Amino acid sequence: MQNKMPRSGDLALYAEKLHPRISELNLTRCYLCGLSLENSSTSPDHIIPQNIFEKGSGNRPFLPTHATCNNAKSRDDEWFKRVVDLMAASGSPVADASAQQFLDKALLESHDAYVIGAKVRNFRLARRLLRPARSDSLQVTYDGMVVPQISLGEENAARLHAYIASLCTGLFLRNVPDAEPSFPTVNWVQYAQAELTGRGRLVHEQASELTRSASTDGTMFCQRWSTEGRGGPSTVLYLGSALAEDSSRGFVYVQFYSAVGFFAIF
Ligand SMILES: [Zn+2]
Repeated sequence: MQNKMPRSGDLALYAEKLHPRISELNLTRCYLCGLSLENSSTSPDHIIPQNIFEKGSGNRPFLPTHATCNNAKSRDDEWFKRVVDLMAASGSPVADASAQQFLDKALLESHDAYVIGAKVRNFRLARRLLRPARSDSLQVTYDGMVVPQISLGEENAARLHAYIASLCTGLFLRNVPDAEPSFPTVNWVQYAQAELTGRGRLVHEQASELTRSASTDGTMFCQRWSTEGRGGPSTVLYLGSALAEDSSRGFVYVQFYSAVGFFAIF
């Protein structure tokens, strides 16, 4: 299956460069809660959860946050990793293998689900993720091929919406000094599903258009991690841009396993 977005030609616009220094950002607030960082105990938060990267992936973006906010986020990070794996599974062998491993563990744990004291974290998480899905929404058949599809259900979709808004805000703030972005409009697209069903096509077009037409006199940023060198599929890729005339407006696009993309417009 062909991944259509973003095209490598589009990416050439976005120089892959080092982040500005944290001190150059003039940060005053914690991006997770929006409150002042002054006189608080802080810790560096990895904006994109570490569990999505290959071991040893360098130069990952972080921002100082309240230590308490950072702690609270780590629960969401594991949930997010599982959501991304499930969403990307039909378009990426890496995500598929990771999702399989998780579901296998959950299935094993399910035998002990009602034993007091048994460790059933994966089982509980899998239930929370999959319970809202009807069994007939888990897969579609297309051209004789069965393509697994996960329907997240409303509860998970709302949580994903909030998580992505926060993640993209963090990436924007990490790259654009003096920015004060408002809460973004958020969308996402699963490439395989978009191609089979046409769902998400609008986001495809919207994102492609934006990545091509971003104004070169504003701030543009991009980082990419790949297991197979520069030409290989990206494990994680993000890019974005801020307007020259208003550094609090712009967009961030973040993509996992070259199979699922999230998009925020500020
Ligand atoms: Zn905070």
